[in-house]
Amino acid sequence: MRPDSLMLGPPQFWGLAAAFSVLLLIASVLLFVLARLVPDTRGPRWWGVACVLVLTGMVVAGSQMQKIGLLARTLYVFGDSLMLVGIALLTEGLRRFDGAAGSPRWIVYVAAFHLVAGLGFEAAGRPLWNTVMASVVITGVWLTAAWSAWRHNAGKRFHPLFLGLMLCALTEAIGWAARGAILASSGGRDVREVVAHANAILVVFGVVSTGSLILLFVLLVNFRLAEQLYAQAVRDPLTGALNRRGFEENTRRLAALSAQLGQSVAVLMLDIDHFKQVNDTHGHHVGDLVLRALANLAQRAKRETDVFARLGGEEFCLVLPGTDVPGARVFADRLRRSFETLEIDTGRNFLSCTVSIGVGYASASALQQGRADLVDLLNQADEALYQAKRAGRNRVRFYASDDVLSSRLDSRLFASSTSGG
Ligand code: GH3
Ligand code: MG
Ligand code: MG
Repeated sequence: MRPDSLMLGPPQFWGLAAAFSVLLLIASVLLFVLARLVPDTRGPRWWGVACVLVLTGMVVAGSQMQKIGLLARTLYVFGDSLMLVGIALLTEGLRRFDGAAGSPRWIVYVAAFHLVAGLGFEAAGRPLWNTVMASVVITGVWLTAAWSAWRHNAGKRFHPLFLGLMLCALTEAIGWAARGAILASSGGRDVREVVAHANAILVVFGVVSTGSLILLFVLLVNFRLAEQLYAQAVRDPLTGALNRRGFEENTRRLAALSAQLGQSVAVLMLDIDHFKQVNDTHGHHVGDLVLRALANLAQRAKRETDVFARLGGEEFCLVLPGTDVPGARVFADRLRRSFETLEIDTGRNFLSCTVSIGVGYASASALQQGRADLVDLLNQADEALYQAKRAGRNRVRFYASDDVLSSRLDSRLFASSTSGG
């Protein structure tokens, strides 16, 4: 590849370099603004800092590129190092975006190596080899970024975005590798002239891929923001349980899916006993503590596939797929009992409350034959809850459907009028 054939004239080169700088400046501002919008996500701030470093490094190295003398050459090496650290921070930002921690010590090692080797080449009167070395090292750092994006892709969401990031990083790596190759094969020509030609390649690759890279970072942050907003939209902030919308979205196909899998479904409706009294006696904030306490118990007791939601003030619902009548009974009674024995710390004293639980149940065959669906089960659980309240509260009641009546435990389920025993 002849450098001349790839050459840009000075106006085009500096025009592109200026566009590149403006792009990086806009990117850093944008990323810092986005970092404030998604406070729990740490990637954007790292990327913002990365853009500032690359921009600063580019300006420092670019302004010293054609100069000679100890100070100019030292600044040139230093500028390259800043760029290198900036590019490495993009990789670290990807890791942080994913929630990883740890100190990015490898960046210090690579930057220190680059600085020492670069100054060494310059001191030995080999500026060309300094620039070749910088190209090789920075190619490696871009490859690390590409690898990081690729690894992120495996089994995660946002696949296309991370794939795009990987391609951008590879494009940048190709740009730097091409610059290194042009320099290395330039023979005995004037180094400053060759560097200018080789940098033209870099700027072209840089503008193209950095533009896409920034777009992808911004999209990534927006996806994360949308994800966080969605999580907020389907959850009750007080207890962390799903709200009614979340409940409906999570259970829409649950009965049909259970029927397909040959699984039965149990639905538990929970209502705290005399909750109004708790509020009236101890205040609303103590009432809130009680709600949280029950929600915590339920969250810990339930399986991954169970759905737990707060459907009203102090009314909760649990949907347990793949649970039979005895299983539902054991689960419901254990939950009732653990709430009864829980001593809730109100800050001033300890408070105990009780909960009534109504259960609706459908066997796999009832679901398959369309004799019951989730709405029926919710109504049944509601009806059973009403019976539990009428029977004196702090107890579990099953709705007397055919499925439940034919189960081996039916007599115990309905005969007992004490609290679940
Ligand atoms: P029962 O044993 O029959 O269920 O009696 P109860 O007093 O628990 O029943 P009721 O449905 O009459 O009272 C529910 C109370 O829940 C009324 C309301 O003030 C309270 N509540 C609803 N939402 C919240 C909330 O978010 N926080 C608090 N602290 N109280 C709430
Ligand atoms: Mg109540
Ligand atoms: Mg109620």
